[in-house]
Amino acid sequence: MTTPSDEVRFRSALDDVQAYKPGKPPVRTDGRPTYKLSSNENPYPPLPGVLEAATAAAASMNRYPDNGSVALLEALSARFGVPTEHIAVGTGSVAVLFHLLQAACEAGDEVVYAWRSFEAYPIATKLSGATPVEVPLTADARHDFKAMAAAITDRTRVVLVCTPNNPTGPAVRTNELLEFLDAVPRNVLVVVDEAYREFMRGEDLVDGVEVYRDRPNVAVLRTFSKAYGLAGFRVGFAIGHEPTVAAIRKCALPFGVSHVAQAAAVASLEAEKDLLERVETLVAERTRVVDALRGQGWDVPEAQGNFVWLSLGDDTLAFATAVDAEGVSVRPFPGDGVRVTIGEPEANDAFLAVTASWRR
Ligand SMILES: *Cc1c(COP(=O)(O)O)cnc(C)c1O
Repeated sequence: MTTPSDEVRFRSALDDVQAYKPGKPPVRTDGRPTYKLSSNENPYPPLPGVLEAATAAAASMNRYPDNGSVALLEALSARFGVPTEHIAVGTGSVAVLFHLLQAACEAGDEVVYAWRSFEAYPIATKLSGATPVEVPLTADARHDFKAMAAAITDRTRVVLVCTPNNPTGPAVRTNELLEFLDAVPRNVLVVVDEAYREFMRGEDLVDGVEVYRDRPNVAVLRTFSKAYGLAGFRVGFAIGHEPTVAAIRKCALPFGVSHVAQAAAVASLEAEKDLLERVETLVAERTRVVDALRGQGWDVPEAQGNFVWLSLGDDTLAFATAVDAEGVSVRPFPGDGVRVTIGEPEANDAFLAVTASWRR
């Protein structure tokens, strides 16, 4: 016999949480090639030296990894010119964000972020017990910093700023962020999520690592998943001041980042020249795709990541189905739009063929 009180109980915060939906793999049945443009992954194989480093590290899989990620922290410290005490690593920067929100928030607190933005924000916020405060993007798909500043209350613990914004693409200007920071109470943590930092091109764009230096309430998230091509290994990190980093580290699961992932990340940092070449190729492809789309008559917001955004409203799912039929998977947000990753040239061409016929 089961009475309601015999049921296993879970936190009420979970009632309102939707599981994270990953980008779908492509499906095709006619044997022609397929392309996955749904998860903002890097289309290239590992950078030189990375597979070797990871393979060598795999030989010690019987041992726990270095819980302090010392070699990786030292490499990041040298790369960014910040002390190792200012860096917290995790299994992807999403994990670091979860740890950070868990560290900063309790039930009743608020986390302010733009919407639409990264799908993980509402999940991580609600799981921390806090309440999301979503501030609509402007008509050109950018952060509305005036409205975000106005949304801050006594309950606000954290503000998330995604630049470039996933999934819409625009990057935040340095002067807009600095002006916003001047309006934010010093005891509210502002997290600048720069997962696509390496793909940004242009003047006056925020570099969170420069902004954080003299601001104790700013932290930056970076990842090896996108430009560095290590999405499958799960490594990301936060750069922030010591109290923030110490709090994140307290919430981190022990031995999260594997030995293999740490070695691959260190080797990736050493392959910077090849990394920059690949990123440059993807940026050139991005320019080509954006120009082609605009030439076809599409209204495309500024694209500063390795993806483009098509605002399709009610046509979103029909469009995603049409590209799917050509063996290209994209990321639809029903009722809103489609995010399409910049991939290898053949993948981008396959996508552009569908967008051309869609406009006809
Ligand atoms: C991809 C992404 C991340 C990082 O993902 P991880 O693989 O967990 O490092 C963080 N923020 C945004 C906005 C992203 O798009």
